[in-house]
Amino acid sequence: MSSLLIKNALAVVTVDDDDRIVENGNILIKDGVIDYIGTEECSAQQVIDASGCFVYPGLVNTHNHLYQTFTRNLPQVQKMELFPWLVTLYEIWRGLDEDSIFLSSLTGLGELLRYGCTTAADHHYVFPQSGSEFFIDRQFEAADLLGIRFHATRGSMSLGKKDGGLPPDDLVQDVDTILKDSQRLVEKYHDPKPFAMHQVALAPCSPFSVSEDLMRETAVLARSLGVRMHTHLCETKDEENFTLEKCGLRPLAYMEKCGWTGPDVWYAHGIHFNDDELLLLADTGTGVAHCPVSNMKLSSGVCRIPDILRLGVKVGLAVDGAASNDCQNLMAEIRSAYLLHRLIYGAQAPTGYELLKMATRGSASLLGRDDIGQLAPGKAGDLFLIDVSGLEAVGARLDPGCFLGTVGFSKPAKSVVVAGKEVVRDGVLLGINESETAVLAEQAHRKLL
Ligand SMILES: [Zn+2]
Repeated sequence: MSSLLIKNALAVVTVDDDDRIVENGNILIKDGVIDYIGTEECSAQQVIDASGCFVYPGLVNTHNHLYQTFTRNLPQVQKMELFPWLVTLYEIWRGLDEDSIFLSSLTGLGELLRYGCTTAADHHYVFPQSGSEFFIDRQFEAADLLGIRFHATRGSMSLGKKDGGLPPDDLVQDVDTILKDSQRLVEKYHDPKPFAMHQVALAPCSPFSVSEDLMRETAVLARSLGVRMHTHLCETKDEENFTLEKCGLRPLAYMEKCGWTGPDVWYAHGIHFNDDELLLLADTGTGVAHCPVSNMKLSSGVCRIPDILRLGVKVGLAVDGAASNDCQNLMAEIRSAYLLHRLIYGAQAPTGYELLKMATRGSASLLGRDDIGQLAPGKAGDLFLIDVSGLEAVGARLDPGCFLGTVGFSKPAKSVVVAGKEVVRDGVLLGINESETAVLAEQAHRKLL
């Protein structure tokens, strides 16, 4: 048996059912699972001294495109909104190969992990016609090296330009190829058991890059395999105009017709839902991944978070791809979300703590997991420590639950633990050599451009 003790934390923010905050707290993890949280003395094989630290449950990211780590801060798209931004970037993304997928995944997942994210979902949907067969296998390889829990979603595009879609014709695949590879990945990687390190969901890219056939057949396949379903929805008014013109339906009505509502479905963005549509989401248990920074960067709009919380729609937090963020830092996302909603909604805006809860419990629920997202006995030993003993936190330690949203913390975590194993120490990844990886990743990024 392996055991790890997190000792003497200034505060443990558990985000458990009672919203407990334990001062001078100890956490004992045995074989990757939390055994005890409280103030009693404990002993273990390995001890992490948490003096001067706040401890939080590992953050859970629910929407991302890791390959975009290699197309951030690009001069040619700085002033664009979603559709022209995509059309310009497809021309670069068609050059993706296995190395760029592997190294961009290490880079993006590495940043997520260093800033407290212990479970990451990715949505990879660009599969050039040759050489892309093992892209998602390479992503799992990168996640395993780092020690992060990884939910791959097998993305897809089947509606090329010649058929009225947005992507170039050579970046789309036929329905059979997509479904066959989706099944292969589920059979190879999906682990439905508690404390899984690997899961797979199926994720056609969006209504404007996927045929109706593929939407419907993906839903049938996902449900027959018992995996979840994910796509982009209600991100822009351009998308709404597209579905209205193409089939006379608003985006959610179109997705409902394709079988895409239910507790096994989560949408990225969810900005332009009307009142009735939010009620439908709440009634069906369909979830939303909120991506505030991406939505601000691409001028897409503001997700109606106060209404979503009031109506009980399932909601989690996400960084989205690095080409529209342009980094991968979920701690920073909590702070941005806090400020955005304060600006738009005033007193109705969520507190820093409610946003922490969204990035942990909320995100975990989108991924269908109740074993992560909180610190409690019987839950996964996934957590991170931030050192608040320095000058930058003086006078700001009164409310550890709200701290990340209200004050914000710009340094990497002091320590990150996944399944009871330390994977980041003093802000540095333990699974890879960061400086060697940075050199290789920079070379692959240059080659892609
Ligand atoms: Zn996205």
